[in-house]
Amino acid sequence: MRAILLGPPGAGKGTHAVGLSEHYNIPHISTGDLFRENVGKGTPLGLEAKAYMDKGELVPDELVIRLVKDRLSKDDIKNGFLLDGFPRTTAQAEALWDFCEENGIPIDYAIDLEAPYELIEKRITGRRSCPKCGKIYNVFFQPPQVEGHCDIDGAELTQRADDNVETIKNRYRVYEEETAPLIDFYRKKGILKSFDSTKDIDEMQKEMFETLV
Ligand code: AMP
Repeated sequence: MRAILLGPPGAGKGTHAVGLSEHYNIPHISTGDLFRENVGKGTPLGLEAKAYMDKGELVPDELVIRLVKDRLSKDDIKNGFLLDGFPRTTAQAEALWDFCEENGIPIDYAIDLEAPYELIEKRITGRRSCPKCGKIYNVFFQPPQVEGHCDIDGAELTQRADDNVETIKNRYRVYEEETAPLIDFYRKKGILKSFDSTKDIDEMQKEMFETLV
């Protein structure tokens, strides 16, 4: 399966990406994670991206498109892939569509996760993750057994630098202006599948596995 995940920040893209990539045995490609990795290593790409990320703004299209094309040229996508956090603008969507058509790897589904702003704010401000294994928690909805520590390996949980209310508001505004129009883009292409992301994780996953075949 070749699919992309759409939806506002905090709609559950990261969480569902993990379940979907395991179920379909495909790599989960998150542009946000790729950027954070580069920021952490202090690469030129990371340094350039950081200024935008800290403000909750989008990294320029040209930079992100190059990053994704490069990633989609690796061998491990033969079985499919799941893009998370890309595309986020019409220019990115068009570039991806053309690249996939030209390379004989057309996208099967655009998976749209829908959630209202109030829920998003709680999900994002409560979000914590394990720097060691990547497991995601939420202090309101899915707290770890021991406060501040991962259930799996005990590592101290961390919060993303851009998971604060001020930045969330900006990220949501950017989503509405730049990314929401992609719902229509993929509807017209005939590959849009929408899911109600206010439902609990297990229920949604079951629905997804039944729908995305
Ligand atoms: P995410 O983890 O998907 O929420 O991404 C974190 C940040 O990385 C975003 O707020 C952007 O600054 C940047 N970013 C990730 N993906 C993209 C993209 N497709 N286009 C532009 N910026 C992106």
